[in-house]
Amino acid sequence: MSERIQQALTAFEKSLDRRLLAALEVCARCGICAESCHVFAAEPDFRNAPAAKAEAVRRFYRRLHDPIGRLFPWWVGAKDLTEADLEELAEIAFGACTLCRRCTMNCPMGVDTALIMRATRAMLTAAGKAPEMLTQLADAAIAREENLEFFREFYIDQIRELERELQEQTGDPDARIPVEKAGAEILYVALSGAHTILPAAVLFHAVGADWTLSMFEAANYGYFLADLQRARAIARRIVDEARRLGVKEIILAECGHAYTVLRWEAPNWFEDFPFRVRSIIEAAAEWIQQGRLPLDPSANPEPVTYHDSCNLGRNGGLLEEPRIILRAVVQDFREMSPNRAENFCCGGGAGLVAVPEWYEKRMRAGRRKVEQIRQTGARIVAASCDNCRLQLGDLNDYYGLGIRVSGLIDLVVNAYLAARRMKATAPAAPVRVSVQELI
Ligand code: SF4
Ligand code: SF4
Repeated sequence: MSERIQQALTAFEKSLDRRLLAALEVCARCGICAESCHVFAAEPDFRNAPAAKAEAVRRFYRRLHDPIGRLFPWWVGAKDLTEADLEELAEIAFGACTLCRRCTMNCPMGVDTALIMRATRAMLTAAGKAPEMLTQLADAAIAREENLEFFREFYIDQIRELERELQEQTGDPDARIPVEKAGAEILYVALSGAHTILPAAVLFHAVGADWTLSMFEAANYGYFLADLQRARAIARRIVDEARRLGVKEIILAECGHAYTVLRWEAPNWFEDFPFRVRSIIEAAAEWIQQGRLPLDPSANPEPVTYHDSCNLGRNGGLLEEPRIILRAVVQDFREMSPNRAENFCCGGGAGLVAVPEWYEKRMRAGRRKVEQIRQTGARIVAASCDNCRLQLGDLNDYYGLGIRVSGLIDLVVNAYLAARRMKATAPAAPVRVSVQELI
């Protein structure tokens, strides 16, 4: 057995908890899951069916753990793991599965194929067979912490530039984008780029929130690699910063996997985790319901549909918040079908969108999403996850959809700024003068 195979199997064995064992053992081979997978729906090849993807893993699992598979491997389709299998598994677990869990929801036995694919990713990462781009991005995030001073000045300059835009948009020369403000109530964790900082800053300013940015962004490529060590190292930077600044709450930018990591995984990874974690869409929905944001939906007159991110929606439970927002900020909201927990993945999740050589693959995998969008007749597709937005933008170009892709928070900001402008230009209320004053 080669060293690489040994590394792969050691990592696989480490992942074998009760949940994974159940997923590997209970498949009834009914095939019901096939149609639920967007990869299969786009390319109905048997190898794209969730059960077939999992079977590629079960083959060597049975060889190791099934008594019959050990003695008579041919009888139960068991076989030793080989170098060629690792290549095939990399195509499957990284290239043909976005870990969306739609198949799990539709499986009568509840087989969690995404869990099997995640364990396979962990195994491939340990064996050096993960996509290079994902590994580089994860390592770059860890290196940023080690070279923080090198980035600081440049980052602060960029933030001051955005602050000037914030002051222009809000008409408030005192509007600020605080960075590393000790004692702030909220740590807002953005993504790389102004598009997740400025719109959020407008809303924080609108509701008078006590907030701050830190030097770290929300993306976690270690999670895509299913590399617990890297994923924790990247998440720990944010948790340490939240503790150091003494915040009460972490609010995350519109990002699906960052929500999964910090909302659901990180509280189990770190003992001292005394924060509430929310997506900015939860906060925005609450502010809207509390009447804290004046809104003018006529600022968003075109038909809008919403793409439910798998991480936020099906797997994170944020199904109604986006709809509370959309009903308040756009004039014509149209649901995709199916939607909410049954929505199809866009085809770019779980890191696929970051790997250039998988461009054609993810364009094919997005066909089902393209059909869903076309059926709505919408001109704008709102999405609350940066990966989804990138994929939807690429699908738009590739299939000539003629749509515009927008973040939810951008639509809220449009409606908010329009309401402010309307208030500023509204004629002043008539002055009431009493009869006594006139005499
Ligand atoms: S994973 Fe579930 S739906 Fe798919 S073949 Fe197995 S039992 Fe059937
Ligand atoms: S998790 Fe999603 S992409 Fe992966 S097999 Fe299941 S439905 Fe397909």
